[in-house]
Amino acid sequence: MLRPSAFEYHKPETLDQALALLAEFGDEGRPLAGGQSLVPMMNLRLARPQHLVDINDLGLEAIERDGPILRIGALVRHERYLTDPLIGALMPVFQEGVHYIGHPTIRRHGSIGGSLAHADPTAELPLLAVLYDAQIVVRSVNGERRVAAAAFFHGAYMTAIDPGEMIVAVEFPIPQTAAAGAFIEVGERRGDFALAAVAVQLAIDGGRIGTASVACSGAAQHAIRLPELERALIGKPLGEPAPENEIARIAGALKPPGDHAASADYRRALLKTLLTRATATACARAREIS
Ligand SMILES: Cc1cc2nc3c(=O)[nH]c(=O)nc-3n(C[C@H](O)[C@H](O)[C@H](O)COP(=O)(O)OP(=O)(O)OC[C@H]3O[C@@H](n4cnc5c(N)ncnc54)[C@H](O)[C@@H]3O)c2cc1C
Repeated sequence: MLRPSAFEYHKPETLDQALALLAEFGDEGRPLAGGQSLVPMMNLRLARPQHLVDINDLGLEAIERDGPILRIGALVRHERYLTDPLIGALMPVFQEGVHYIGHPTIRRHGSIGGSLAHADPTAELPLLAVLYDAQIVVRSVNGERRVAAAAFFHGAYMTAIDPGEMIVAVEFPIPQTAAAGAFIEVGERRGDFALAAVAVQLAIDGGRIGTASVACSGAAQHAIRLPELERALIGKPLGEPAPENEIARIAGALKPPGDHAASADYRRALLKTLLTRATATACARAREIS
């Protein structure tokens, strides 16, 4: 039977109490959110925290628009994005990506703070945070800081969070002009973590692509942007097809990791296909709404 090593469970009622406990325990304490990643890791003894600080009752479940920012509380569960009207209206690519996360039970319990802190290399929410240039709001007893998504992920399961800190919210800049995009991924089975995924967001400026954001997972140990492809898309008239030769060249230069699930060559070929399809879909959607 799989059993975690011994730990003490703490259930603070306020954020200040939670931060004080995390400061006291340092390396030996961990926040517990939905438990969908932490509990299996503890059962397998891949994680052995001596103190679990349950952060479920701290009131971190709001999705709020604040001018040009959409602020999502750290404990918002994945399933909520699928029906939230603000997300649907402002960030449809985000909603499209969330559909790929696990299964209904996992989406019901898993939280955005937990997903970003866990930092699985091909998880959808880290990829979306990188796509949208989100800021991750991290707090400790010493105060609050914001970390850009591009600087937050340091490697597989490694982030910029220090002991004693926790994520309290994630801030997404709201697209300020008409925009269209696409999210496509492939996994071994429906609901599995992706082998690779691609997300594209295009902002429309007149009859052209004004700004472009292209992010992928499966190409490195964490989600990355592809600035060369973004530059190739910016300024293109909306009627033009996606630049397939450019995509093939950029995908060919990627150096994805190989592992038990897929070789590096397979992932590179998969990324080329996903980049071609996601870019073509985003361009077609941009044309439709212009
Ligand atoms: C069978 C299965 C399939 C899955 N498939 C997918 C999938 O396809 N895509 C996907 O993205 N995910 C998938 N998941 C993971 C799921 O999305 C998790 O819910 C998520 O990764 C972690 O969120 P959580 O709230 O459950 O965090 P927890 O499991 O509670 O915590 C995970 C880690 O984050 C830390 N943590 C939690 N909250 C915070 C916070 N606010 N600040 C700082 N640290 C924090 C914890 O200490 C722990 O180290 C799957 C999980 C399972 C079990």
